[in-house]
Amino acid sequence: MFSYTNTDYDAIVVGSGPAGATLARELSRQKQKILVLEWGGDAPLKGSFAQMAGIAAIPGKSAFINSDLSLLIRGITTGGGTTINYATAMLPPFEMFDRYGIDLRPQAEQIKQILPYGPLPDDLIGPRAKRIWQGAKQAGVDWGKLDKLIDPNRCRANCHLCSYGCPYSAKWTARDFLDHALQNGCELLTHAKVSKVIVENGQATGVEYQHQGKICIARAPRIVLSAGGIGSAQILQSSGIEEAGKAFFIDPVVAVMGAVDERFDHGEVPMAAGVHLPEEGIILSDLALPKPFFHLFTTQVGRFHRLPSVNKTLTIMVKAKDLPGGRISSRWVNKTLAGEDKARLDKGVDIAKTILSAAGARHIYQTHHFAAHQGGSAAIGTVVNSDLETRIPNLYVCDASVIPEAWGLPPTFTLMCLAYRLSQRLCDS
Ligand SMILES: Cc1cc2nc3c(=O)[nH]c(=O)nc-3n(C[C@H](O)[C@H](O)[C@H](O)COP(=O)(O)OP(=O)(O)OC[C@H]3O[C@@H](n4cnc5c(N)ncnc54)[C@H](O)[C@@H]3O)c2cc1C
Repeated sequence: MFSYTNTDYDAIVVGSGPAGATLARELSRQKQKILVLEWGGDAPLKGSFAQMAGIAAIPGKSAFINSDLSLLIRGITTGGGTTINYATAMLPPFEMFDRYGIDLRPQAEQIKQILPYGPLPDDLIGPRAKRIWQGAKQAGVDWGKLDKLIDPNRCRANCHLCSYGCPYSAKWTARDFLDHALQNGCELLTHAKVSKVIVENGQATGVEYQHQGKICIARAPRIVLSAGGIGSAQILQSSGIEEAGKAFFIDPVVAVMGAVDERFDHGEVPMAAGVHLPEEGIILSDLALPKPFFHLFTTQVGRFHRLPSVNKTLTIMVKAKDLPGGRISSRWVNKTLAGEDKARLDKGVDIAKTILSAAGARHIYQTHHFAAHQGGSAAIGTVVNSDLETRIPNLYVCDASVIPEAWGLPPTFTLMCLAYRLSQRLCDS
């Protein structure tokens, strides 16, 4: 049974992560009538472990196990991954985008003005992060504060709830931009899972989605897929663009942990400080893990005897870029690492161990890799052109899928730049 939604939209945006919400905000500011279809719900963020698990740990929906048994997660909720991410902001690698004829510098300047963008003040940097920073200094590593999308006036010391979904509205999430869009007249339909794009006379004219047990259709002259690195590739495949999802990256992460004599009884904002080594393709940062994650990762590598040290453990996150590979299909997702990717991670792990030792940590061990930055599955130059349009006219993709090369960076800020640019182009054409 089909049900039809109102048809007089200028564009339909599928997904409300950082790219989708930025598009909805910017297009609706230009008086365009926008419908956002979002698979997830929009319950207010409570900062609870249970809510975070509901967003990012449902097998086959938001959590996937690769064939090497590593974990890959994404956020299925209004606001996408930004609801549970660590709010670290890095400027786009401008030269990479220049190679594809895309200059993101003007958009980066515009976005900086409207976001809470910058490093945390000293009083919001936790004692674990400070101790790791001291260790890095002693080890001769050029460690420094990372830029965050956090309002320091609302953020609280001794708190880690941003990683569960900040309940104090201190962390910027894509929900903030979506709220602006709704104030501008944009419509949002939650619990609406888009399955395919409708193509008529060779052009995109609408989408088919499931909502409350019904199959529904919504129409608009422009469709933008912003369903994330996995979601958009799956929708493209079922819409006739089979080349999507044939290769992608995940930015694997390893946590390196060690115990010190000092006790840390409170939570901290993760990734307060760190170092980016672009030539090596790695980023290292402090990572104050909430207890359930510490227990999970430590158990996973059989270090049961380290479990009682939870309040004395320092953790460094090592994130590396990985070569595009693997496969996304309608039912499963799989990405394993190449030898080169593992070597990159190993190099980062060695640096992390040196820093932890210099910080006085003992019993140092590392976790298996896990990941949360899936992208590149509908890359610029392969599936979309530099205007982010697919070979089906009026069908665009704007999210981490379009990142054209191996990545290894926090993507949120870049995705907002791409969405800003696309909104300007759609309004101008
Ligand atoms: C624990 C964690 C920490 C992170 N830390 C950082 C960080 O510090 N800095 C940073 O920059 N990045 C970080 N990230 C990554 C970042 O949040 C994501 O890369 C980013 O959110 C991706 O944006 P996107 O627009 O591509 O997709 P998403 O944010 O995944 O948004 C896609 C949206 O589409 C919806 N959707 C999916 N499929 C469908 C469908 N079929 N129909 C309708 N809707 C659909 C989803 O529910 C979601 O709302 C982190 C991620 C995690 C999980």
